[in-house]
Amino acid sequence: MAQTYAFFRVVQSYLEQAAQVSELPPELGAILSEPNTELIVHFPVRMDSGELKVFTGYRIQHNNILGPYKGGIRYHPEIHLHEVKALAAMMTWKSALMDIPFGGAKGAVKCDPRALSETERMRLTRRFTHALGASIGPDHDIPAPDVGTGPQEMAWLMDTYMNGMGAQQKNAQRAVVTGKPISCGGSYGRVKATGQGVVHCLVEWAREHELPLAGSRAIVQGFGNVGAHAALLLDAMGVRVVAVSDHTASIRNDQGLVVQALNDHVRRTGGVLGFEAADPVTRDEFFATPADYCVPAALENQIGAHEANLLQVRLVAEGANGPVNPDGEAVLEARGIDIIPDVLANAGGVTVSYFEWLQNKRMERWTLEEVDSKLETMMMRALRKVREFARERRVPPRVAAYSVALKSIADCYSARGIFP
Ligand code: NAD
Repeated sequence: MAQTYAFFRVVQSYLEQAAQVSELPPELGAILSEPNTELIVHFPVRMDSGELKVFTGYRIQHNNILGPYKGGIRYHPEIHLHEVKALAAMMTWKSALMDIPFGGAKGAVKCDPRALSETERMRLTRRFTHALGASIGPDHDIPAPDVGTGPQEMAWLMDTYMNGMGAQQKNAQRAVVTGKPISCGGSYGRVKATGQGVVHCLVEWAREHELPLAGSRAIVQGFGNVGAHAALLLDAMGVRVVAVSDHTASIRNDQGLVVQALNDHVRRTGGVLGFEAADPVTRDEFFATPADYCVPAALENQIGAHEANLLQVRLVAEGANGPVNPDGEAVLEARGIDIIPDVLANAGGVTVSYFEWLQNKRMERWTLEEVDSKLETMMMRALRKVREFARERRVPPRVAAYSVALKSIADCYSARGIFP
């Protein structure tokens, strides 16, 4: 896919569409069309070879009218400022839509995490945290995992941040980051939360369309945190996951992949390539696999007009942020293929991150059952709001989701006014 994809411009165009539908005051549209803060840092890291390398990191704080900035940190070789800005803005809409008292932010480091050793990743994470300094904090800006990062990076981030504090304040800093390992104050259910939220949306869509889940078929692009958990949960509900694609290969088994075995293979080898109980297929053949559901859970800009024309599904549930581009969306709409938009479908992650933050703040530990049940309630509430708005105003679900989010933000600005 083209690296010049103007992701931030695309997200801005969604904001403009929703602003028109919800008659947002133009001044507010102007405020939300740019982030509050754009931080770019260059920092040195000692590699295992003894060589010193300078890396570039980003933290974009889009908006914090509803609460502290919140959003993941991505490690990827292809990072562009406009992409981090787009992802930060989407976090603002996501938190507002879920009625979570957080704002929106996103961070990234331009690096290839697969090419780094564990100790290099640790030094990079600690040095990036140090470079961010007081720009993050448990009541100001709270990072989380995203592509290329996970609980381990969050533990290093927390430890680095805490150790910069005096002994008296250390423990209160745990909430500086979410998505931590359970042993470091992470929440039960956080690792699977985003995939779980996608599955809640998909199950509700199937219920509404009176389609039985058992025996239905799904294809999943990306088999990392979001894709693997969505696939495992779907498989457990009797949905046959018939094709999976990641950065190493695309594979298919029309009888249904053994998802747990595939997960073990991917954790062991780093990708779906070489999984024996499946046939290798091309990227196009992956998208053209007949199924009921497609869960894109890799990166943005993966489903353009070409892929949208290949798809043989009834629903695309966006696990990734921005996986369907506007051309792809137009084709899906024309072909009558439904979309559950990213800001709703993948909001399970930020929701359980909020639960983790609350647990840290209150010095509590919730059970998995409590987390799962609260997540389901919040996903259903947001789903209903989006569905009602879309029906009443006859707009696509993405415009409806943005509009619902914008209303909470607009109400807050209208009550507070603009300082001074
Ligand atoms: P991850 O790093 O765990 O996994 C990414 C997956 O995408 C990997 O399987 C990788 O092989 C695959 N991939 C990368 N490039 C690809 C390509 N060109 N074609 C096919 N597959 C490719 O990342 P993740 O945390 O699962 O995030 C995936 C998406 O979900 C991203 O868009 C992210 O922003 C979004 N998201 C993640 C979370 C979360 O909690 N982790 C929350 C909300 C949204």
